[in-house]
Order: sequence, then structure tokens, then C-alpha cells
Amino acid sequence: MTAPTTDWTRRTAAELADALAAGEVTSVELTRAHLDRIAAVDGEVHAFLHVDADGALAEAAASDARRAAGAPLSSLDGVPIAVKDVLATAGLPTTCGSKILEGWVPPYDATVVRKLREAGLPILGKTNMDEFAMGSSTEHSAYGATHNPWDLDRIPGGSGGGSAAAVAAFEAPLAIGTDTGGSIRQPGAVTGTVGVKPTYGSVSRYGLVALANSLDQAGPVTRTVLDSALLHEVIGGHDELDSTSIDRPVGAYVEAARQGAAGDMTGVRIGVVTELGGEGYQPGVLARFQESVDLLVKAGAEVVEVSCPTFVHALATYYLILPAEASSNLAKFDAMRYGLRVLPEGIESPSAEDVMRATRDAGFGDEVKRRIILGTYALSSGYYDAYYGQAQKVRTLISRDFDAAFEKADVLVSPTAPTTAFKLGEKLDDPIAMYLNDLATIPANLAGVPGISVPSGLADEDGLPAGFQILAPALADERLYRVGAALEAALLDQWGGPLLDKAPELGKLDHRNGDSA
Ligand code: GLN
Repeated sequence: MTAPTTDWTRRTAAELADALAAGEVTSVELTRAHLDRIAAVDGEVHAFLHVDADGALAEAAASDARRAAGAPLSSLDGVPIAVKDVLATAGLPTTCGSKILEGWVPPYDATVVRKLREAGLPILGKTNMDEFAMGSSTEHSAYGATHNPWDLDRIPGGSGGGSAAAVAAFEAPLAIGTDTGGSIRQPGAVTGTVGVKPTYGSVSRYGLVALANSLDQAGPVTRTVLDSALLHEVIGGHDELDSTSIDRPVGAYVEAARQGAAGDMTGVRIGVVTELGGEGYQPGVLARFQESVDLLVKAGAEVVEVSCPTFVHALATYYLILPAEASSNLAKFDAMRYGLRVLPEGIESPSAEDVMRATRDAGFGDEVKRRIILGTYALSSGYYDAYYGQAQKVRTLISRDFDAAFEKADVLVSPTAPTTAFKLGEKLDDPIAMYLNDLATIPANLAGVPGISVPSGLADEDGLPAGFQILAPALADERLYRVGAALEAALLDQWGGPLLDKAPELGKLDHRNGDSA
């Protein structure tokens, strides 16, 4: 059943901002519509870990009051948003999908969250994720998996499957994700949504609970390229509280997206990366990728084939550097400072170490334990040079491959993820199969360059979506928006409307729950 056009949850964030500006709707009405939608469908999707109806409505009322008073407003003032549960939110639980942080309520906001609040975006709630952002399916959440709105028996990607599913299921027009190895882009690909990993250091990491500090980056999760650009401008910028934050003005992402949507790609050199395709990629995913390249060529772009030979080592490099950093970051969960504290059974007066051991045993899931062990091993004396040190050297070579490729091309392109959404449970017991989902996304994190995933079409016999990845040089994020918007415009033309309109399960969700308008 198609929802009526008066259903505010079906509009893009840009459309909602326009409707607010035109006085057609209030932020309280919009926020309520999304809260109603969450109440109607999230029992089946499970995109949210916490919903903050009162807080969101209060922020919406404040935005409406500012608007009525003629006070200065941000471009997205009054448009509600969902936030991945890895970002600290003052007064709202922040669990990182882990039992060890159950019940922890941060006393402060992450900088990204502070910026959202200052820009007047009501925060609907916190979204589900793989525990401490480790995973590609959201199945490693200690609070149960999120379901892909395209097919509730399938994964929504990970680790930010909650944010992607919330946006795909029309529970939120916008969401924040974080991407350490692909956790914004891969969920975007398998849910038919748009996800952006900004240049490392261009969006503050302050208050983002670290998985791997040298790789983590927060970014937009949306249904259109323009919406991502709008959100990116809100959350970007220098932050003294993050020592790796780059002191540069926020880019003109919205302008780039609008320019791209006009469709002229003349003079743009698109580099197809030889190593990010072929074996291991589903034929339908490759077919949609090729068609997208062809559309960009039709719009005037020039295609060049580029080879980045070290990219084949990116996954192995990542799975040394990431666990090394993670094992050190997770040491702070010691049962003393945050969340869970488990007293060991059968010990009369347990030592701090006994409590720590019992708490970490009960509080961390298997994947987290696996990576703590891997990381501790990689950093141990005698192995440090052979593993961690070697990985850092390969990381430098990967960056050099990017530099050389960007001499020949303005952007690099590839499929975002090798496959469409797989069934829940299918790869849960096979860590390597799970890790392979990020084959194409990880190089960008290792080099710190920005990337976007844009829906490329339906890629298998079940009618599930795939994503097209665009990568740009560091601090040239505008290019993602320009090329992404051009591709999106060409594909929308071809499809005759948004890809999400073709999601069968979404229609069933509407039907089962009644329209939320
Ligand atoms: N799937 C990757 C991992 O498990 C990426 C995670 C992420 O980007 N947070 O590490």
C-alpha cells in the first residue's frame, strides 16, 4: 500500500526543511509523525535501542518557538534525527550495543550531538549497532539484531544497521552513523540508503566512543545525497576537543550536491579501481555498478582504469590495526568507571581484578573478546614489529596507492559491498565471511579519505539493493556530493522514483501497522 503524500515520514529532510520554512507543518508535528512511525514499525525493525519521545518533542517545540520568534535558524532546524548509540548523549543512555555499558547515561554530549542540538534537530533516539561497532550485520548487538526493512529476515548491514534501517523504514529522515571500516557505507548499500564517511578529522570524534581512533569517523545516513550534504555541513568543522580535528572551514557540500544534480559531469575523471571488483562480488552487484559508471559517462564523465595493488592487503592490515587500537580502548571498561559491575560468585571478598574479570566476561560479547585477544597479541612484545608495525607500513603503501590513483582520476569508484543483504544468522559463526563485507570500504578508512555510498539499483533475484561507492582525496568531500548527486539524478530518472519505493517488505510493514499519516 502506498502511503499518502501527506505522510511527513515519506519526505526527504530537504523537503521537510522547506515545508517548515513555508509554515506548512511544525517541527512538533513532524517529530510526532516519526515517533508514531517508530511506535508502529520498530517492534519488527528494531532500529532503535532507546527512543526519547519527550526529549525530541521538547526540542521540536523549542525549534518551533524560535521560528515563530524570527530567531536565526539552521538549514535543518526542526527536522528530527536518529543517532547511533556510540555517540555520547547527555541524559540519554549510551550503550554502544554492549551489556557492559548497560544503564550508562553520559554526563556530556559528543560534539556531533552538541552540533545537532545547536542546529535545532530533535533527537528521536539512539540506534542499534554491533557491539562497540564491530561487525557488518548488527547481529553482534547485545540487545538483538536489527532487521532490514527490505526483508525482515535479512541483515541491515553493520555496524550501523540501526541508523540505516531507521532511515530506510521511514522512522527517521536523517541519522548519524560512524564508519571505522565501512559501518556507514555498507549498511547504506544493503538498505538502499545513502551513507557518507567524511574525511578523517573533518568531523569531531569527541564523545564518539572509540573503536579504533585512527580510523573512526562519524557521518550522515540519509535517503538522498542532498540530505547527506545538508547534514554534513551541520556536523562538520574544527573542534579543539579532538586533537585529530582538522582546522579547516566546512566545505560547500550542499552547493556541490545541487551542482551535481544538474547532471553535467563534463571534465570529471572517474577512476574504476581494478582491485575493488571481480572475484567475490555478486554478479548483480557488478552489473549495477557498471550501469552506474555508464550513466556517469553519458553525463559527460571520462572513465579511467586505475590499479591500487596494495588494496588487496587492506583487509589484513585493518584486522591488525583495528584490534590493536580496540584492545587498548576497551581496557577502560573495568567495572569501576562505567555501567555494568558483576561480582564473581563464590569469592568472599573479591579483589578489583576479580570484579574486573567477572564483569568483562559477562559484559563483552564474543566478537569483542575475539578482537581484544587479537589486538593484545598483535601488540605483544616480540610480535609487535611482525604484526602491528608491518601493518602500519602497509597502511602507508595504501595511502600512496590512493595518491597515485588521484593523480589520474578525480574520484575513485567501486561497488560499496560485494553482496546484497544476506540472511540473519548466515555469517554469524564465520568471522572471516563477516569481515569480507568491508573489502571495498576499508581502504578509505586506512588512508583517511572520504567516501559515499549511493543506491545503484536492485541487484539480485530477491529484488534487494546494492550500493555504488565514490571515494575522493582527503578534504575534497565536495566531489562525493557532486558525482553522487549526478548519479542519483540519472538513476531516479531511470527508476521513475526512489529505489525505496520498490522495497516489498516496507509496503507490508505499512499494511500491517496501518499508515502512520
Ligand atoms: N565491519 C567492520 C568491522 O567489523 C567495520 C566496522 C565499522 O566501520 N565500525 O570492524
